[in-house]
Amino acid sequence: MQRLADLWLGTDPAQRLRLRQTSLAMALMGLCAPVLHYCVEVAQGERGLALWTWTVLSVGGMVLVYACIRSGWSCGLRDPSMTAWQIAFAITSAAFGYALAGPMRGAVFPVLTLILMFGMFQLRPRAAYALSLFALVLFGAVMASMALRQPAHFPPEVEIGHFLMLACMLPAVAVLTARMSRIRQRLSQQRQELARALAQLQVIATRDELTGLPNRRQMQALMDQELLRSQRHRHDFCIAVLDLDHFKQVNDTHGHAAGDEALRRFAAAAQAALRATDVLARWGGEEFLVLLPDTGMPLARAGMERLREQIAALPIDLGNGRPVTLTVSIGLTGYRRGETLAQTLARADQWLYQAKAEGRNRTCIDADPGAAPMRVA
Ligand code: GH3
Ligand code: MG
Ligand code: MG
Repeated sequence: MQRLADLWLGTDPAQRLRLRQTSLAMALMGLCAPVLHYCVEVAQGERGLALWTWTVLSVGGMVLVYACIRSGWSCGLRDPSMTAWQIAFAITSAAFGYALAGPMRGAVFPVLTLILMFGMFQLRPRAAYALSLFALVLFGAVMASMALRQPAHFPPEVEIGHFLMLACMLPAVAVLTARMSRIRQRLSQQRQELARALAQLQVIATRDELTGLPNRRQMQALMDQELLRSQRHRHDFCIAVLDLDHFKQVNDTHGHAAGDEALRRFAAAAQAALRATDVLARWGGEEFLVLLPDTGMPLARAGMERLREQIAALPIDLGNGRPVTLTVSIGLTGYRRGETLAQTLARADQWLYQAKAEGRNRTCIDADPGAAPMRVA
């Protein structure tokens, strides 16, 4: 059943929606045709060439529209659902059906309303008004011509009554369609705004506002992921804690705003010094964390040393004409199988403390000779 539906409607959701609508219109046409045949049979006792021509053209036209949409040809049009075309075609078919239906032609009016209601899902207000006007003019022309050619079967006073009825009904349908169109537009606008707000929220929830780096929460999630990956693939990963040296002095000498700028510049420079796969995050204050996925200690150490040296050699412009040079102390450790991330982080912190104690602007790692071994609880 699902395969049959896929064959008929395709798999693209937008195309499916269009083809569902067209299939409904085709079904309506398919049901109306035998009813018209019945009306003609009852009124005239025979079904002439005109009725068969109407049937072939009406049903064939709808099949053609389906083929245009199903083949993807209509995707190049401004409205790929071809709604306005379908409605205009159905109105024309209904107008000729009206002429054929004879005494039962009044039954065409509810069908005409139904045809115009299809526009509620797709048409813009202007198109809805234009199609209603088209229906009124076309039906008016058919009524006038029938009243002139066959006054016995289409008495002029009856046709005037029918026309007045249409003249009252069609504008009302157009107004309702236009109102629906505005509601649709408002809904789609609100949906777009909601999507934008969600995207913004995503950034706010995962990024540090000052530096644009991943924030603490996001970094925690990334480290959790890396831990799972390393367990599955049995690879190593390292974590480094970075703390800017004597950063309080930068604030004291240049002001807090300049301190903020220094943090931003440092974040950009550190990011540039790292490999694309390494993740730099702001852990808090002037403290940063680097996650080096799928990396053993020798490579991690080389990377951190490269970063530290590049930062120390970089004059940082704070926008006040007095550039400063920052240095950074780093505690680096490798994840040990079986321990928690909190234990890894505590060890990295311990090495950072060691680096500060040894005089700053240096990297301390697990294998540092002379460093006190970290106890893992
Ligand atoms: P140490 O070498 O021991 O790390 O010295 P330090 O001065 O960097 O250390 P301390 O922890 O005493 O000072 C950290 C400073 O970082 C103090 C605080 O004002 C500053 N700081 C933390 N977060 C921010 C921030 O977002 N903006 C600015 N401008 N300063 C910050
Ligand atoms: Mg510091
Ligand atoms: Mg600090």
